[in-house]
Amino acid sequence: MKALSDQDLLARVLAKTCEYLDHPAVVGHEASFLDHIARDFDAIGAKTHRPDHLCVIELGRPGPVFLAHADRHGAVIDGAGQAVYAVHAFVTDARKQAKLDPEALDELAIRLSGAEVFAYDPQCGGRIAYGEITGVDVDTTRRALLRTAGLPDLPTGTPIALARTLKRGQSGFITGQLDNAAPLAALRVAAELGLGGTIVVTSQEESGHSAEHMLAWAEAGGLKPNTQLVVCDTSPFDDGAAALAGAVVLRRRDATSSFNADQVSKLETAAGSAGAPIIFKDSFIERENDARTRRGEAPKSMGDTELGQVTARSKGRYTGATLQLPTFASPEKRDSTTPRALTAFIRTLLAL
Ligand SMILES: [Zn+2]
Repeated sequence: MKALSDQDLLARVLAKTCEYLDHPAVVGHEASFLDHIARDFDAIGAKTHRPDHLCVIELGRPGPVFLAHADRHGAVIDGAGQAVYAVHAFVTDARKQAKLDPEALDELAIRLSGAEVFAYDPQCGGRIAYGEITGVDVDTTRRALLRTAGLPDLPTGTPIALARTLKRGQSGFITGQLDNAAPLAALRVAAELGLGGTIVVTSQEESGHSAEHMLAWAEAGGLKPNTQLVVCDTSPFDDGAAALAGAVVLRRRDATSSFNADQVSKLETAAGSAGAPIIFKDSFIERENDARTRRGEAPKSMGDTELGQVTARSKGRYTGATLQLPTFASPEKRDSTTPRALTAFIRTLLAL
């Protein structure tokens, strides 16, 4: 494996994140991005194939099975010509209605207002029209509707992506649509530097369907039962402390499942040899909840992860551990992290 400085590693991961962000992948409309990922890994000699909703990448060297996600937030044009926030466009069952409380709506409005967007052809990813988000409304079924300027009337089902805005701020923070592009970019760069194993890129993670797609493929013979999965993702925090510490985020469990203790400790060892401090998100939330209880506040949820769903749905036949990049919201409510956290993430991958 080539030895690269932290600066070189970071530059590569940021460049790859930018490239990925330029290929739209709105939840439910990721096909052309999955095709792009397949070509991008073919180019470094990996063997790829494209089962429904997935891109499976064999790196040609021994190693674990990684899971990463393709999808990003955005909108989709509905039958009435409105731009519905994409994860809410999935909600057809009244019992599963998206619960958008006023606080979440405010955050969404701050995050999205003023953002540049473009409509694209879901088959090839080609851009067909450009516009800007001017505000966010909520309809009677509590779906978020984006008000836009500049977009023409578009056919039902047209996806609307957020334009790339990845930047390094003066404070050194990296801000942009990091979820889910940054972990995937880190895996691609690690693959160039000798990472082994298989990478399964899933779609529709944000709408909670990715575990279903992954297991449908695995159980149809795509992957034998496996308890050593490594699910790569971002992990949001209320403040920048975890990212500033250059930490990697692990979990022993989430709200639905306990993970594989052996695989968790393998990741702990890898993080240790990469020199990265570790934050266990489950213990972190427990401590936070103790403090909240003392203050008479409602506890936070332990959180739902794709691995939790994979573990629960497969009754433990498919499980493993998670490796997450800590993020926090910038004042404009955009995803942010630090160079140290991003470098720690990729160094941990490489030490596995
Ligand atoms: Zn994610």
